[in-house]
Amino acid sequence: MAANRKLLILAGDGIGPEVMGQVKQVINWMDGHSAVSFDVDEDLVGGCAYDKHGTPLADATMDKAMKADAVLLGAVGGPKWEKLPFASQPERGLLRLRKDMELFANLRPAIVFDALADASTLKRDLVAGLDILIIRELTGGVYFGEPRGITQLPNGERRGVNTQVYDTHEIVRIGRVAFELARKRDGRLCSVEKANVMESGVLWREEITKLHAAEYSDVKLSHMYADNCAMQLVRAPKQFDVIVTDNLFGDVLSDCAAMLTGSLGMLPSASLGAADATGRRKALYEPVHGSAPDIAGTNKANPLATILSYAMMLRYSFDLASEADLLEAAVRDVLDAGYRTADIMQDGKKLLTCTDMGAAVVEAMAKRGK
Ligand code: NAD
Repeated sequence: MAANRKLLILAGDGIGPEVMGQVKQVINWMDGHSAVSFDVDEDLVGGCAYDKHGTPLADATMDKAMKADAVLLGAVGGPKWEKLPFASQPERGLLRLRKDMELFANLRPAIVFDALADASTLKRDLVAGLDILIIRELTGGVYFGEPRGITQLPNGERRGVNTQVYDTHEIVRIGRVAFELARKRDGRLCSVEKANVMESGVLWREEITKLHAAEYSDVKLSHMYADNCAMQLVRAPKQFDVIVTDNLFGDVLSDCAAMLTGSLGMLPSASLGAADATGRRKALYEPVHGSAPDIAGTNKANPLATILSYAMMLRYSFDLASEADLLEAAVRDVLDAGYRTADIMQDGKKLLTCTDMGAAVVEAMAKRGK
């Protein structure tokens, strides 16, 4: 048993603490029933941190995050803090975490559980059983490139400029993450850019191809232009296993893939940093959804996105694939049994509260005999 895995929980605001409460039930169960245990610490981020410390992320909390093996975050924000100055807003806490931990790889799985295949806007047979992973470069590209800005031209017009720029090391490090994750899955990676019209895309394709030949020739690599990828995602999404792409295309394509699943309350995510000398990567796991102020405090939130984010943490930060499999199977069991929170409710199914959904997942894990 490895007892020294350090996990920092930042539940945040709104439904954050409610959904995180259900993850804690899962952690407690695993602690008692399997060989997996964590050193769990908890702290504040977002509006609740501002209320206590006057900042959305205290330095001491940032320090804990830097030392943790993984950080699990709920959600931040809400109307109470909307009028604060920019630097004090809850979201700044989250952005500081991402920036200081140098989380350059964003992982967004799009998984369609059979029981929820009808929630997608696409036909059931196109999406049932879908399980793809989009890896988006998060700290480079056109969102950060210089020069940028809006300038006044002599002819009276204005000009808006952003610069798409990638250096070799940025492409190679995201490529490495992608190849390694593809190896842990179905062994297929599709690299996406627009090498037909962008030099940054030409470089991206060349570097990914070189990396493949040098270190990952066991993975099946393909290349696709981003516009075609958008089409293929809605035409035949099951052709993909892992997709790797830059910041801008990843932003668009991961939202497109998310909607294949049809449900915000089910979407987990992970953001990873560079590996240190021991191979350990800084990592932040969080649901894709926000703090849902409209339902906060009503025990109606769907905790499955956060529970699935925790499963990603087991798999990617701690190499605990069988525990991650068990948890994901328990989520599938609960959905197959017809249990639903309000956001995914369908005719004839059983409506559960957030806490009851957490308990149902724990019960399903127990039933699977661990
Ligand atoms: P949201 O994701 O919080 O909510 C959008 C809609 O989806 C709401 O109707 C909400 O009730 C529903 N919803 C979201 N998660 C749900 C869940 N787990 N179960 C059931 N229903 C769920 O987005 P929003 O309303 O645009 O933003 C609300 C606040 O959250 C804002 O302050 C925003 O800045 C913040 N936000 C934070 C994050 C984050 O922490 N990563 C992400 C997005 C938005």
